[in-house]
Amino acid sequence: MKDLTILTCAEQALPQEPFQARHFIDGHYVDSADGRVSDRISPSHGVLVSQAALGGQAETERAIASARAAFDDGRWSRLSGKDRAAVLNKVADLIEANQDTLAQIETLESGKPISQARGECGGAADLWRFAASLARTVQGDSHNTLGTDILATVLKEPIGVVSIITPWNFPFWILSQKLPFALAAGCTCIVKPSEMTPSTTAMLGDLLNEAGLPAGVCNIVLGHGDPVGALMSSHPAVDMVSFTGSTAVGKHITKAAGDTLKKVALELGGKNPQVIMPDADLDQAADAVTFGIYFNVGQCCNGTSRLIVHEDIAEAFVAKVVALSKQVRFGDPLHPDTQVGAIVTPEHASKIDGYVKTAIDQGAHCALGGAPLEVTGLGQQFYQPTVLTNVSPDMAIAHDEVFGPVLSVLTFKTLDDAIALANDSSYGLSAGIWSENVHTCLEFSRRAEAGTIWTNTWMDGFPELAFGGMKQSGQGREIGSYGFEEFLEVKSLVMRIGHSREPWVQTS
Ligand code: NAD
Repeated sequence: MKDLTILTCAEQALPQEPFQARHFIDGHYVDSADGRVSDRISPSHGVLVSQAALGGQAETERAIASARAAFDDGRWSRLSGKDRAAVLNKVADLIEANQDTLAQIETLESGKPISQARGECGGAADLWRFAASLARTVQGDSHNTLGTDILATVLKEPIGVVSIITPWNFPFWILSQKLPFALAAGCTCIVKPSEMTPSTTAMLGDLLNEAGLPAGVCNIVLGHGDPVGALMSSHPAVDMVSFTGSTAVGKHITKAAGDTLKKVALELGGKNPQVIMPDADLDQAADAVTFGIYFNVGQCCNGTSRLIVHEDIAEAFVAKVVALSKQVRFGDPLHPDTQVGAIVTPEHASKIDGYVKTAIDQGAHCALGGAPLEVTGLGQQFYQPTVLTNVSPDMAIAHDEVFGPVLSVLTFKTLDDAIALANDSSYGLSAGIWSENVHTCLEFSRRAEAGTIWTNTWMDGFPELAFGGMKQSGQGREIGSYGFEEFLEVKSLVMRIGHSREPWVQTS
């Protein structure tokens, strides 16, 4: 693909030594009992970025016991909201102070561009600060009309010990969508990052200690989904699991948590559409679609994997997207100007390619890309920006989560058709519409089955809002006051005033 903008960068930014990531249990970094580690090779540069302790049952049990003890003795759950907020605000300051270190390793482990990693790691501080502000807002209801001798209140209490399990695509950001909110509520936690991107989560342990979080309140165990995540999901000492990842693993977790009926909050996959009406600002819309599909190489739960465009403008609009796609700067994630980096693993790169080849075999037309991308001097895990037209709703590419830089184009005649196509998915994470007509936007917004709707924009997000999915994109909500409430349990307290209660047993 000759007319694509590809950036490469000098080698000196690569690490000389791999980062040693260790479990963080009871306020201390520890190795695995059996000494096992796993290596993470950078998807873009092929260098050993980190060696992470590989957790097993022993470490997971220790971490859960530590979180349980810390919750039960009240060292954190019984602190005032003000004191909890002070610690979370300090963590936010430390995250900002360490933004570059965090971003460097996040880029090397995930393959995402360094400018994006800086934005996510530094920007995560805002999530911690917002959660800190919520720590002081926990309140329930009071009931003063239940009779002259009754006063009742509804209290909110921390739910208890929370297992937090996160994916590889936004390791530090997604951690920060969960952990500070759980801590603000007074919960204690066990955290497990993806085995592919363990380091920034492990690094957080030092920052938590420095900020004064009591030992045991947040424990971090590194390792695979099985056994670490599986035990975190089934253990009777855990009260809630907050998970972000694939729908398949989310279903496993729900089953594992079912035996002890723990609460489960799930942020899962998506197959998100942007609908383009003929009256839209087509230049803005084309830019937003281009951003939506290539951001994080399409490895984004909120990615625009489906373009649903009115048939009258489809050809011209796709031409605009194709022209913009060629100008997106793909390449070395360490280059400061790169916008799109590497695919997370070779297996995932071939899965993306498999979806594209199958769609073409089934009659889709490749308007752009459709093959791996060569980046001089770097590995094989890059993929060309890809636009597929002539996609029909029955093709796998139209409904499976491909999780790559691959846009599927579908067309429609009427708004009803567009809404039906948008909702023709087992997922319901996000959806968008572009139109200058507010009535069209509102009609779509009310009928689209998704947890977030964007009109005339894409992927704008704020800690104040609620994030989450309908249908098989998840259950529960994250961030905002709704996300915070997930970590709170509700308790009714009924108080009789004086001695007016009628005895149940009539004594003679
Ligand atoms: P994944 O489901 O493979 O893994 C996610 C986490 O679960 C990892 O830490 C993994 O080790 C762990 N895990 C695996 N098996 C487990 C088990 N049996 N029990 C407990 N934990 C287990 O997902 P991934 O490949 O890391 O991430 C990509 C997926 O995440 C995509 O489907 C994407 O849409 C989704 N995602 C969703 C959101 C959202 O907010 N809705 C955000 C980011 C990613």
